[in-house]
Amino acid sequence: MTKPADALSAVTAGILNGTIRVVDLTVPLEPATPVIRLPPQFSPSNAFSLTEISHYDDRGPAWYWNNFACGEHTGTHFDAPIHWVTGKDYPNNATHSIPVDRFIGPACVIDVAEGTRANSDFLLTIPVIEAWEARHGRIPAHAWVLVRTDWSKRTDPKQFLNIKDDGPHTPGIHPKCVPFLAKERDILGIGVETVGTDAGQAATFDPMFPCHTIMHGANRFGLASLTNLDKLPPTGAIVIAPPLKIVNGSGSPLRVLALVPNGG
Ligand code: MN
Repeated sequence: MTKPADALSAVTAGILNGTIRVVDLTVPLEPATPVIRLPPQFSPSNAFSLTEISHYDDRGPAWYWNNFACGEHTGTHFDAPIHWVTGKDYPNNATHSIPVDRFIGPACVIDVAEGTRANSDFLLTIPVIEAWEARHGRIPAHAWVLVRTDWSKRTDPKQFLNIKDDGPHTPGIHPKCVPFLAKERDILGIGVETVGTDAGQAATFDPMFPCHTIMHGANRFGLASLTNLDKLPPTGAIVIAPPLKIVNGSGSPLRVLALVPNGG
């Protein structure tokens, strides 16, 4: 059996010699980064902003730095269970208190890009997951389930948010499929390429916003606005997704990295 120290050395050696690729699943964080839009009766979340403190000038002759501000759920970001009322009573449910081993897990990448191309309101269903498992094996415990829709290729914020008269139209997870993933598979959480983990029309679902209501209600996490999921194999990658250690944070922007065996 490989000794733990040898397993870690193999990872560092693999990164250095190129047999392990490091893939960035993060979108750029800038003022233009799209932020979720809620109906007007609810408080909005601020976009990202950067304010220069000094830039090698009389405000600070040898240093450049900025203040930044944004909502916790801006750009590529982490959703903690405390984000939703259904997850508010779990212990260790906020960004500072979640056990750190739960930020790292194997990735199961479910490709529904074709369905999404034909239908912006495409929903991942249990039969699609069962077909995926028949080919790639059962979703293991502690996995990040990443839903590849290729939605991140919509670089125009208007097309990315895709808001029509009746609200946003973006793909997501079927309300019956969410409890399957949250309870019948012991996953860490779901990662998506859209602005939030729920489908654009999820306000009309029963239950409303099932990815938030049920996933956080089961003490699971969410990752939103991911990109480069098309560069991952269906299985074999490891995702590293630790949010900022904001005390009592409901989430945070983060850098999400995947370690991918080359040729995978
Ligand atoms: Mn969020």
